[in-house]
Amino acid sequence: MSRLYELPTDHLASSTQDGHRVYLYPADVRGRLRRIRTGINTVLILVFLSLPWIRIGGRPAILLNLPERKFAILGIQFWAHDVPMLFFVIAGAVLSIAFVTSVWGRVWCGYACPQTVFIDGVFRRLERWIEGDSWTRRKRDASALTASKLGIKAIKWSAFALVSLVIGHSFLAYFVGTEAIGRMMSQSPLENPGAFGVMAFISGLVLFDFGWFREQFCIVACPYGRLQSVLMDDRSMVVGYDPARGEPRGEGGDCVNCYRCVAVCPTGVDIRRGTQMECIACTACMDACDEVMTRTGRPTGLIRYTSVSALKPRSFAYAAVLLMLAGGLTFTLSTRSLISAELVRAIEAPYQVIPDSDGVVRVTNHFKLDVRNQDFKASRVRIELAPESLAAGVELVTVNPEFGLSAGELKRVDVFFKFPTALLRSGSGRSWLNVGDRKVEVRLVGPFS
Ligand code: SF4
Ligand code: SF4
Repeated sequence: MSRLYELPTDHLASSTQDGHRVYLYPADVRGRLRRIRTGINTVLILVFLSLPWIRIGGRPAILLNLPERKFAILGIQFWAHDVPMLFFVIAGAVLSIAFVTSVWGRVWCGYACPQTVFIDGVFRRLERWIEGDSWTRRKRDASALTASKLGIKAIKWSAFALVSLVIGHSFLAYFVGTEAIGRMMSQSPLENPGAFGVMAFISGLVLFDFGWFREQFCIVACPYGRLQSVLMDDRSMVVGYDPARGEPRGEGGDCVNCYRCVAVCPTGVDIRRGTQMECIACTACMDACDEVMTRTGRPTGLIRYTSVSALKPRSFAYAAVLLMLAGGLTFTLSTRSLISAELVRAIEAPYQVIPDSDGVVRVTNHFKLDVRNQDFKASRVRIELAPESLAAGVELVTVNPEFGLSAGELKRVDVFFKFPTALLRSGSGRSWLNVGDRKVEVRLVGPFS
């Protein structure tokens, strides 16, 4: 046992010295943290699978319709022109990661990363049910190919493929909606080659990654893993071994040198050698060691979370900027109207100077007004162009002073503003046009502007 788990010191345990994969067989673990993680895994998987099905106020909770450039997040609709709002979301996500990592280390990796959640919560479970515990799996993989081995592997990979297909379809539902997924599933793949291709690619990727590649992704491919050394410092929370209590191993120290903490590690780490970049803070070694400590009558916590520091200045700075971003996003969302209106100057003739029948020389500006009902729901709204915010002397001329817009509809109307030439000279022509509950600025031009 100890020889099997005595890890190399000059290269990673999950690869040979020349870089070939060494397949890991992490042992099962029970304990308080395992139960917490199972609960969190279950909730997160249920949220992922059910979100595309949930409706908020009749609108999808999540829909990222890229071809039509319309999006719904928590029932709020967004269009392509709302993209600047993404600044708050992306900056907030980056800062949240920086904040959480600086205080709680790799808690995301251990508890919430889809890689950990699905591998631990689904794929390893299926593997254990079908193939047996880590020793049985290790022995089977080392044995010659027989009909029974082939049969067990076929059952396991069929189960993995089925789960991957469910994940692939659920992923696609975020982009096309559940109604479209249902419709496409009843049709031939040739009728929806693009959607089918995306689903097949995602399912294949999931099968490869969660079924086989596993910890290699965390160790060699995950960019977040590479950022750890920058985001964390010696006061960040990490899973750590207490050498003062544990050493000398098996000779008076509390560590009985059973290697149980190494056996359960999914990334091939011996945490007794100190904090390592490959550690994803899954806490399996904490549960494993606590079990050993309890059995041998010693206090638990030889491997535990360490450096739970009070918030440090850097964390305060992250939190402050995060609060500002959250405030900015809340303000932008609360002042956002379901009607979008954009006034664009007609390029063919920006203005004309025409003497009117009353003898006054007036300027006419021609604009195109784009108005969209941004609601996804099948509700029709009435839009009224109300000229009451126009400066005195400015007159609105349009054949569409009032019109209806159904859900998602965009309408372009021609609008003209007529005003005496003197208005621009006096500089008192600042005007707004009321478009439903929106107000758009009208920038008048003329020979004296
Ligand atoms: S599980 Fe605990 S006692 Fe066993 S080797 Fe690891 S640290 Fe030592
Ligand atoms: S060292 Fe412990 S916490 Fe880190 S990955 Fe291995 S088992 Fe998980």
